[in-house]
Amino acid sequence: MELGPRLTEGKTKIIYAHPDDPSLALMVHKDGITAGDGARRSEIPGKGVLAGRTTANVFRLLARAGLATHFIDAPEPTLTVVRRCTMLPLEVVIRRLAAGSYLRRNPDCAEGVRFEPPLVEFFLKDDAAHDPLISPVEIAARNLATAAEVEQITSTARVVFATLERAWASHGITLVDLKIEFGRLPSGELVVADVIDNDSWRIWPGGERARMLDKQVYRDATLVDEALLADVLARYELVARLTDEFASADSV
Ligand code: 5GP
Repeated sequence: MELGPRLTEGKTKIIYAHPDDPSLALMVHKDGITAGDGARRSEIPGKGVLAGRTTANVFRLLARAGLATHFIDAPEPTLTVVRRCTMLPLEVVIRRLAAGSYLRRNPDCAEGVRFEPPLVEFFLKDDAAHDPLISPVEIAARNLATAAEVEQITSTARVVFATLERAWASHGITLVDLKIEFGRLPSGELVVADVIDNDSWRIWPGGERARMLDKQVYRDATLVDEALLADVLARYELVARLTDEFASADSV
């Protein structure tokens, strides 16, 4: 498919304008994988195809669950057509089980403590400040979103989580936590945007951290060599294959 002008490039994707329709954009998924604020970087040939496939499967599931998203279509394996929106500079993290940065910020909490309902946290996207936690009050004070919009984001994030948690549970896999982002359409409406792929969540088969299938394998590795990258790719392939079922009619 023909691409319009390049709008922005991230570590794992490039966003282009749509050649004909100014209300759309094109996301091209790259083979890059990074960790530690970009301190660790690798290329895994084939990852972009799997990221495009996984994100399309996830967004089709969310659309079927009635959620407003930026997703339109995935006409090629590495290409996602989306509604053009202005991204909120926020990472919205939903947690069912305590893990990762939550444990570092709350050292008295044990790994795996269950949140009911899932905990929703906001992080400001600010590389120089290492994406700090930000409160709903601060989000409104900075005019990133109104207090009412933060409530709407929180409830939507919980629906996104519940939808994916159910889908993963049908494979015997525990969705531990999830990072999503929101965009604002020209109308002002907030939609679930960006990608949701195997970089975006912790998924533990049988609830066992040692069996994790997600990007955390790459983040945690003490040595990044060919064998590690092949192992990471195999997990991403398995995850993409499992999410193929998300997009089918009987999975919600
Ligand atoms: P934590 O805050 O515990 O490091 O991460 C919580 C969840 O958000 C995990 O599932 C993690 O994969 C995801 N996450 C956190 N930061 C990022 C990020 O910068 N990019 C992506 N794709 N996911 C993130």
